[in-house]
Amino acid sequence: MLHFPRPFPDELLGSLVVRACRENGLSHKELVFSLANVSGTYSSIFLPSYVRQLATVTKIDVEELVYAHSAFPYIVSFMANDLAARLKALVLSRVGISGGSFHSLTQSVTNGVAYRRLCRHCVQEDLSRFGTSYWHRSHMLPAVHYCAKHRQHLEETRIAVRNFGRLWSYCMPHEVKGTCIDFGLPAWVLMEIACRSGVALEKHVDYRDCWNDEYRRLAEDKGYVTPGPFIAGRQLAYDIRAAYGPDFLAHVDCTYPKERNAWPALMVRPCTKGPFSPVKHILLCTFLDNCSSGLKLVSQIKCGRKPRDNFKLDEQLSKRVEAGLRRLRKRLHLLTLTEFMSECSCWSQYRHARNRLPKTASLVEAFKAVCRTNKAR
Ligand SMILES: [Zn+2]
Repeated sequence: MLHFPRPFPDELLGSLVVRACRENGLSHKELVFSLANVSGTYSSIFLPSYVRQLATVTKIDVEELVYAHSAFPYIVSFMANDLAARLKALVLSRVGISGGSFHSLTQSVTNGVAYRRLCRHCVQEDLSRFGTSYWHRSHMLPAVHYCAKHRQHLEETRIAVRNFGRLWSYCMPHEVKGTCIDFGLPAWVLMEIACRSGVALEKHVDYRDCWNDEYRRLAEDKGYVTPGPFIAGRQLAYDIRAAYGPDFLAHVDCTYPKERNAWPALMVRPCTKGPFSPVKHILLCTFLDNCSSGLKLVSQIKCGRKPRDNFKLDEQLSKRVEAGLRRLRKRLHLLTLTEFMSECSCWSQYRHARNRLPKTASLVEAFKAVCRTNKAR
């Protein structure tokens, strides 16, 4: 007879499965077979596909199990109401465990969480309170590197969350070491991301069809406006990358090579269809709520052709014209300005910028004076 433990507060279903394997002396594969009489693991630690079987053995309602111990509420937290409802029905009605898993559904989490994470303070607390530590779901969300409860940096282990089969880890947090990753972000930013992610994890209601209008208003209030009727989305994308840093954005799978059509710009555009992953909503809101309110200078982005350095160009062209005046001095009066400047190899550059090239222009005047003098003779 299989003995199945009860989940602890904030414990991931994958962590509960690890404890069940250890208590029953079974491998993950053997445990799944004893639960569902089917070979295969089909499991993400964030939302195992055999959640109905887990509900039966733990004697906990399947919806309660999914909302209190899986990443599902976080995954759908910013989705439109009908999509969230459809996915909820899909997860709760799943009977068999074969025929695929919930891997695609959990991608918005697994893409931003490569390795299991832990809070050393939570580990000590859990050990003294429950006799064991366990993997917390609030610690294993994208961009969350801070324990909101203890206001401490999380440690990242080398246990990959995508490992299945033979590589499935049976370790509990108190048995492993981890390191804190320093992205150079202030503690209050990490704390705010952790708190917002925690709110998303607790969410059951208030799903919206579209977030763009709200973000657009927020961006306008913070000065992300252009002279036209547009939001300065590219500048917003530029500032978000500068605020979080490219390393952090790459770590949470939110990087973008160019500001144009980057996710921050798309999220404030009126007609963009989502859904965007929850971490993008959280990073955008955290930035917009905390950035300064002044009108933003839409000038920091280098794009298109570089502006011409007129001083440098004036120096180059004036040297050529000076040389031309000397070289062609005997037949200057026979040349038109166009012919003379073409001989000096600077007509096309000069004619488009003559008002910004004072030194060259004065030499052109010298050429014209020579011509006038010769014609007068
Ligand atoms: Zn903690």
